[in-house]
Amino acid sequence: MAADRRIVIENCAIATVDGHDTEYASGHVVIAGNRIESLGAGPAPEGLENVARRIDASGHLVTPGLINTHHHFYQWITRGLATDHNLFNWLVALYPTWARIDEPMVRAAAQGSLAMMARGGVTTAMDHHYVFPRGSGDLSGAIIGAARDMGVRFTLARGSMDRSEKDGGLPPDFAVETLDGALAATEETVRQHHDSSFDAMTQVAVAPCSPFSVSTELLRDGAQLARRLGVRLHTHGSETVEEEKFCHELFGMGPTDYFKSTGWLGEDVWMAHCVHMNDSDIAAFARTRTGVAHCPSSNARLAAGIARVPDMLAAGVPVGLGVDGTASNESGELHTELRNALLINRLGGHKEAALNARQALRLGTHGGAQVLGRAAEIGSLEPGKLADLVLWRMDTLAHASIADPVTALVFGAAAPVTASFVNGRQIVEDGRLLTADEDAIARATRDEARRLARIAAQG
Ligand SMILES: [Zn+2]
Repeated sequence: MAADRRIVIENCAIATVDGHDTEYASGHVVIAGNRIESLGAGPAPEGLENVARRIDASGHLVTPGLINTHHHFYQWITRGLATDHNLFNWLVALYPTWARIDEPMVRAAAQGSLAMMARGGVTTAMDHHYVFPRGSGDLSGAIIGAARDMGVRFTLARGSMDRSEKDGGLPPDFAVETLDGALAATEETVRQHHDSSFDAMTQVAVAPCSPFSVSTELLRDGAQLARRLGVRLHTHGSETVEEEKFCHELFGMGPTDYFKSTGWLGEDVWMAHCVHMNDSDIAAFARTRTGVAHCPSSNARLAAGIARVPDMLAAGVPVGLGVDGTASNESGELHTELRNALLINRLGGHKEAALNARQALRLGTHGGAQVLGRAAEIGSLEPGKLADLVLWRMDTLAHASIADPVTALVFGAAAPVTASFVNGRQIVEDGRLLTADEDAIARATRDEARRLARIAAQG
């Protein structure tokens, strides 16, 4: 068997985000095949064989690749609409357009979403896709194919909705699935695409959209399906005051108790937002190790509120970061969410003690790995883990005068990415994707956005 090809990275600051927050002011990382072989202070060990490449990373900070834990790729082609709406009015404004998506639109939107994140240091992405209009083609296949082609590690949260206009929901009838249809299609997607191996590039989770767009049966049966198949569960939870009111009116309990009653608390579950949580909700998440995808920019854009991230972390709740769909976070980047998470949480009750730079970086890396159920494989730089890592350039105008590189990364401007590796393979160089043509993707997304707008205008 041929020995693994090595890549040696030297002379860089390193934030490992391991259990002790180990950092090196100047150190090395050795990649062998798709794994991190070794790292530490000073230059790499001498006498390494099969070194294919040696990178002098002076002036750089190396961190684990960023992990996005909540997104809706299809929204890339409906950005910049309903910009002054709250969540409910925004949903009402956009559903008639979203209901018209088809496979070419979803493919282009997935490419746009993935490209934007990857060039900014995301190495693991996820897409919560829940709009499957009748006759719209193989949307899951298109999304998974886009991630595979770009070389990004990926979780598809196969979403679903079965509560349409005729049942008091928001989407048109043709844009939702039946209970049985949604469950069967989700199971088929898991069987076709989910890889449970350590090195998996593609995983699938079961992900009904939200309490107000799906039936109680779909939540309950979805949880049972995921556990039968051994995959994770994802949904939106406690995003707005209106959702809390809705749950009390319909089910006689708040969202967290409703999730509990349908089997949706557990270490195999993560939920987006979790903004409106009381102390006992947070305690229930901590007790059951239910994870949270914190989406600070989207929550601000839709005026949903400030999630209690410091309280969640203090209680032991696993928390990762999410871009959320780009119809509510037009930038579509995750490295800027490190800064936004820190700043927005300092506007809450804990003030300047809410989060520090290292906690923010942890949310975007190790925290994300935890909520995706992959903390053994990714999320920190440690020997034996998968080689998903980013070289951030810290010696340019934007950051050179800040002494501490982690402070520079989180508090400073969005840092340039000199190189990004996923599974030992470089996918970004000097801020440009090596695995896709950004300009071609930009043209395709513009064309598909215009086509969607035309079709939606016809009604
Ligand atoms: Zn969302």
